[in-house]
Amino acid sequence: MLMPWSRTHLITLMGLSLTLSCGRSRREIDTTMPPSVAKPVLSLAPPLSYELADPDCQGGAGLAQLTASEVRSWQGQAPEAQLAEFTNTSSVDTLNDDTVALTTFGDSYQRSCDFRRGQGLRCLDPSGRELMWREAAIGKSLKICRDRFAYPRRSYEAVALSSLHHLQSARNLYLAVAGPGTKAPPPLRLSVLATFMTDLSHYPIKGDDGPREGTVRTYVTDNLAYFPDAQMLTVFPIRESEASLLNGYFWESAFVLAHEYAHHIDLTRHAGAMATLGLRWQPMLHGYEAGLTASVPGSQLATIRMAGAMAEAFADLVGFYAAGAKEEAVIGLPYIGRDRVVTYDKFRGGSPKVLTLERLDTLLGGAKMGDDLIDFGDIHASGAVIAHTLDRIFLELTQSPQQSRTVEGISKHFKLALTFMDIYTDLAAASRTDGQDLSKEVLLSPLSEAIQRLSTDYLANDAGQPATDPVKVKRAICEIVRDQIPALTIPPFAEDNHC
Ligand SMILES: [Zn+2]
Repeated sequence: MLMPWSRTHLITLMGLSLTLSCGRSRREIDTTMPPSVAKPVLSLAPPLSYELADPDCQGGAGLAQLTASEVRSWQGQAPEAQLAEFTNTSSVDTLNDDTVALTTFGDSYQRSCDFRRGQGLRCLDPSGRELMWREAAIGKSLKICRDRFAYPRRSYEAVALSSLHHLQSARNLYLAVAGPGTKAPPPLRLSVLATFMTDLSHYPIKGDDGPREGTVRTYVTDNLAYFPDAQMLTVFPIRESEASLLNGYFWESAFVLAHEYAHHIDLTRHAGAMATLGLRWQPMLHGYEAGLTASVPGSQLATIRMAGAMAEAFADLVGFYAAGAKEEAVIGLPYIGRDRVVTYDKFRGGSPKVLTLERLDTLLGGAKMGDDLIDFGDIHASGAVIAHTLDRIFLELTQSPQQSRTVEGISKHFKLALTFMDIYTDLAAASRTDGQDLSKEVLLSPLSEAIQRLSTDYLANDAGQPATDPVKVKRAICEIVRDQIPALTIPPFAEDNHC
């Protein structure tokens, strides 16, 4: 059902902008292409509204030390509640720790686009840049006043506490794995259940007296995103229509929060290399169907899409390891669960996790979606294939069984993912050529080379098992890559090369 733009909305919004322009100026945040956990949902259905469980707390003293709280984590088809310990966490002015410097709720952003301009162009400004969102309502800092307490599940407090718990775990594991001397990622702003509105003018509406055009408001829902510019992690709300149908929510997932935190780790480690590539974030899809921003020239687009898929692969690996490398931690997640279990070799519906040449073309923006059940125009799909491939390689390198991964095994695989991404981004940055079209071979060669270099280095230095035959392991890895990424036609992975 279409929700036509209502007059009340318009008046409210005008009133709001007037109020705001009298005081401080409204901030714009560069939300052009934030890395998100899934393909963005831009929905006409309004988000579910949430409430503060403890409104009196917000004007009061807050909690000097938060030691524990009830949080939720996905296990199988639904999240389970548990009491989780917090470290170095306080809430005097705002809920904060080493991971999150500021927690806010009620943030609201808006932008106006034109449906008539066509897919991919709707939200571009006259110079071809994607429109930023403007702050429409300033969020408030969120305080917690009750220690060791079970806040109602659908309160701002509960959402913030579950999110923070999973972020804290991801950060702790990262710092333990990366070792001493690692630069800690700077603390983030955690924006809980922010409203991101896009008003689309000239939208076709079926009226009682025939079709007409009007303005509709769409919302970003059912997702999380990391905004590098604002150093902000946003938990988007869910659609009102969906709320009662779901067993649980994205923010109750260790995998999801660690996935987003991995984008922050990625940027902390690789900002220099990424900047060389002209990349600071990845393409966000426009409209209701997969469509790409037209503001980027074609040649650069392929580079951006490839880097996007690699960043998603890395984030899925980190998410999976931070969630204990357990399939049950991911499997039940709404919309994305079955596709994103790193160890699964198939997408939902049985389509194999394989990156064919056709799928690669779809990813890079050079082809329309074929009869694939999975949308490879979405960087998360190719990311899932690459994550599965890399995890198989890590298991082979460490000679570990896939089932029942030990804590030590998880730590080794997390470290391999970090090292792989360090090597990959360096190679990708070095292969950049200004404004030129990169052939598929050039575009994929950093992936091929990084796999080989990682394997060689690991087998020479870290394998720690004299029984391991490096030649045999390398052959097995070669077979894995040829199985999973037939689009990679570079020696030694080319079809006519023998592994
Ligand atoms: Zn992501």
